[in-house]
Amino acid sequence: MENYASSRGIYFNTGGGIPLQPVDIRHKDYIGLVSADSAFWALVKKHQLAKLLANPSFLRKYRNKERAFLKEINTLRFGLKPSAVYFNPTDRCNLNCSYCYIPEQLRRGGRDMPSKKLFEALEILKVYFGATLPKGQKAQIIFHGAEPMLNKEAIFSAVNTFAGDFHFGIQTNGTLMSDEAIEFLTSRKISIGLSLDGHIARVADRLRKNWSGEGVFQKVVKIIKALRGYENFSVICTVTGENMLSLVKIVEFLHRMEVPVCMLNPVRCTLAAARKTKPQDHRLAKNYLKALDRTYELYKKTGRRLIVANFANVLMGIIAPAGRRLMCDISPCGGGRCFFAISSNGNLFPCSEFIGLRRFKGGNIFSDDISRVLQTEPFRLVTERDIENIRPCSDCAIRHFCGSPCPAEAYEMNGSMQTPGAFCELYEEQVRYALRLIADGKEDAYLWNGWNKGIVTTLKITDI
Ligand code: SF4
Ligand code: SF4
Repeated sequence: MENYASSRGIYFNTGGGIPLQPVDIRHKDYIGLVSADSAFWALVKKHQLAKLLANPSFLRKYRNKERAFLKEINTLRFGLKPSAVYFNPTDRCNLNCSYCYIPEQLRRGGRDMPSKKLFEALEILKVYFGATLPKGQKAQIIFHGAEPMLNKEAIFSAVNTFAGDFHFGIQTNGTLMSDEAIEFLTSRKISIGLSLDGHIARVADRLRKNWSGEGVFQKVVKIIKALRGYENFSVICTVTGENMLSLVKIVEFLHRMEVPVCMLNPVRCTLAAARKTKPQDHRLAKNYLKALDRTYELYKKTGRRLIVANFANVLMGIIAPAGRRLMCDISPCGGGRCFFAISSNGNLFPCSEFIGLRRFKGGNIFSDDISRVLQTEPFRLVTERDIENIRPCSDCAIRHFCGSPCPAEAYEMNGSMQTPGAFCELYEEQVRYALRLIADGKEDAYLWNGWNKGIVTTLKITDI
């Protein structure tokens, strides 16, 4: 946007000067300094803050780099193309988890996508990505749920046929995995995400049960054991009011089981049934940070990390915005612009989170042009959800480290896209925690091997 003010911008925080907000990170020595627009941040010794803000050399140096900061964050926010698809090859699930984002009648009585149609859809995607992605870059197809293993023959056959065209992954509840299925997936280096909500059956099975009300903890643990040593797998733990107090025990358990990566995902509050399981935000934040502390202690004790991927993503979003791997914590989020979702009848949605919400259907892969679908109103509602139009996020210093996810839950919970998601305080606390551990030089313990390859520091304020 053009700036018509006469101010020369020679001071921070007034006129055409740079807005830099101090952020108390609850550290004994350091305070954060953040430019909300560019996602620039610095950690400053508390007693040096006033001196720094009055230092014209700092302002000048910041100004010289600002364009590069803004370019990076704007590319991330507005310049990416889809490179992944969440593909639901069936509506059905053999479980009936209370918080699932797919409506119960679909999971109980829905349909599978026939193998012929699945192949046809992948052919269409191959042509689409062949034209939109740089030569040699393969798009990612993640078979997602409901429970994709209920349509195993079709997806395994597709994985074999399209091995040269896509990177494949599967998100599964694990209960239908046989030794042969594990061998099939691991020998092809398919990424596997398993769902498990606890460290013992009493916790894990509270909300995850089959249609007869029986838990599945033991079955999933068997699969985790079988996958021990396989690098390309992770466990997703959905955090609700039912298991929030067990988070420390859960990370201890996953670390003991040698799980390399987990996600501690707060329950998405899109559907009313899921909202009943929502933990209180501030209580969740407290327990979540305790679990992160525990992963640090375990790493120090054993030399082996358990990466909490959703936190690692927030941390990476601070250290190197373009290095983040997940796209929920940025606004607009990745839904409809970095990836999209396909339901079992070929309908296209901005993200799996919208599959139960018919209003967000943008078209159908078998009858509509994908590029046009990406421009439809249902998709644009998501891809144009800018954090600058959401209160209180528009005034929040950490808005580009949070993104105010998720648009689906904001829309369903609050009746409008221009409202925050369900876990504002959790994001506040995660960002403070991340800045604290950077101040203490501990970030390496929370990130994957090689995270710092290619990362350069753009502006070092100790040089000023
Ligand atoms: S949800 Fe909360 S933490 Fe996130 S940007 Fe909005 S106000 Fe900030
Ligand atoms: S924030 Fe919600 S809609 Fe966006 S990518 Fe994440 S889950 Fe999907």
